Amino acid sequence: MQGLMQDWPLTCDKIITHAKINHPEREIVSRQVDGSITRTNYGEVHDQARKLSSALQKRGIKLGDRIGTMAWNNARHLETWYGLIGIGAIYHTLNPRLFPEQLKYIVTHADDRMIFLDLTFVSLLETNQSAMPGVQNFVIMCARAEMPETTLRGALCYEDLIDEGDGDVHWGGFDENTACGLCYTSGTTGNPKGVLYSHRSNMLIGMTAAMGGALGATGSDVCLMVVPMFHANAWALTFTGPMAGMKLVMPGPMMDGKSIYELLEGEKCSFSAAVPTVWLMLLNYLEESGNKLPHLSRVLIGGSACPRAIMETFDKDYGVQVIHAWGMTETSPLGTVSHIEPEIAHLPYEEQLSYRLKQGKPPLIVEMKITDDAGADLPRDGQAYGTLKVRGPAISKAYFGGEGGDILDEDGWFDTGDVASIDPLGYMQITDRSKDVIKSGGEWISSIDLENAAVGHPAAAECAVIGMPHPKWDERPLLIVVLKDGETATAQNFKDFLVGKIAKWWMPDDVVFVDDIPHGPTGKISKLDLRKTFKDYVLPTV
Ligand code: ADP
Repeated sequence: MQGLMQDWPLTCDKIITHAKINHPEREIVSRQVDGSITRTNYGEVHDQARKLSSALQKRGIKLGDRIGTMAWNNARHLETWYGLIGIGAIYHTLNPRLFPEQLKYIVTHADDRMIFLDLTFVSLLETNQSAMPGVQNFVIMCARAEMPETTLRGALCYEDLIDEGDGDVHWGGFDENTACGLCYTSGTTGNPKGVLYSHRSNMLIGMTAAMGGALGATGSDVCLMVVPMFHANAWALTFTGPMAGMKLVMPGPMMDGKSIYELLEGEKCSFSAAVPTVWLMLLNYLEESGNKLPHLSRVLIGGSACPRAIMETFDKDYGVQVIHAWGMTETSPLGTVSHIEPEIAHLPYEEQLSYRLKQGKPPLIVEMKITDDAGADLPRDGQAYGTLKVRGPAISKAYFGGEGGDILDEDGWFDTGDVASIDPLGYMQITDRSKDVIKSGGEWISSIDLENAAVGHPAAAECAVIGMPHPKWDERPLLIVVLKDGETATAQNFKDFLVGKIAKWWMPDDVVFVDDIPHGPTGKISKLDLRKTFKDYVLPTV
């Protein structure tokens, strides 16, 4: 027997239409590439998106077409996503930090018909456009007066394009499983692979992120959306924001501590989301300037493990609650969230912190387990660690164009490439990415835990740990440190600092100081590059 409820496909056009009807005046504040601030609201974003949809249709863009966007977080970028979404075209986010070779590869692989870009990226795309022959138009997201001289093929000014449309367009009306967005993984191994979100998966992840057990988003929140829209589906905030009617503040290209602080305070933001590096920059700025954060109540930290020092400083010095979360492009991306639940609420601060620093529990739409090398399930005892596997309606079942072949096992589980444990309360903790974990004497050392312990050293700006070959132990950890400006420290200082904070046998065999640690396109430490740099290095213990 079928239920007697209405057929209402979960297509994402409904999200911005909802915001237009119910939160039309709620603001979207954007920092433009020239640093100026502009303001619009959900009502206007909706109307602009409809005009854009009709203009694109007139130019032949239709259901299933892929359109690239290379832009910072700003209102025009949001309008573009919804303008595409409404007519079933697919936003394809281009991470400007990708190497040009990868960029050309993904634009060609996705077969993008147009690329929308911020002024910042004109010369980057001029240089590379010849390798993107399928792109008919490059749409520069600027005002008419700002339109530059450019050699970009079929260059259009965003405002001119919008004016070609009249907003008379039919949105939605297609199956909720229709493709909605495309985001390539950064390709640390092999070519980048396209994760293809559907309307349904975006709707589900947006609602999931809004839940109290996740971000707890409401219309009273003001969200500083630092996580770029070109990274992992903007952590669903482009959907959660208009669903909940949150005022959105978009930082554009300026993510240094001072600029972030100015927006947090100037716009009275209650909530924000970003990777640890951004928060480190903000906390350094606050320490130097003596400023406080009276309006901010909570920050979501994910993308890489949240160091203890960040969580403690936010708690104790600024009264801001850190919500630690884990996910990946393939999980839309919210996979787990660490919250203070009743079982840990009564614990002393330090003990509670050790739970909050874990990556947390999955929401309803994510199933999770850990397995050993043979694929057998491991116990949820907080001790056993193994491959982390997930499944659910907002998790990839294949990559765009069939790259990588079958990515699910016979029971439909996706191997995340992470190594983790799950404790009896259900909190998952990432030990490492499977390729970064250090195998020492048959046991595993977590490079993440070591890095996070070392970065607590007052002289440390950034730390990375990689495994180096060792004849007796197989691999041993090497700690690589960038010191803060003007600070000095010795290898022994760092080893002394680590005593008592890590298991004795985890102590790095050596500590080396460098000026800079390489980062990948999503801002994470590039272990691949570090391993190349240190390929001829020999540990003193060998
Ligand atoms: P990329 O691999 O291109 O950097 P993703 O955002 O898809 O982009 O990266 C997902 C990976 O990031 C996860 O598989 C995991 O290794 C790591 N990660 C994400 N969040 C956390 C976290 N809170 N703690 C530890 N690692 C994390």
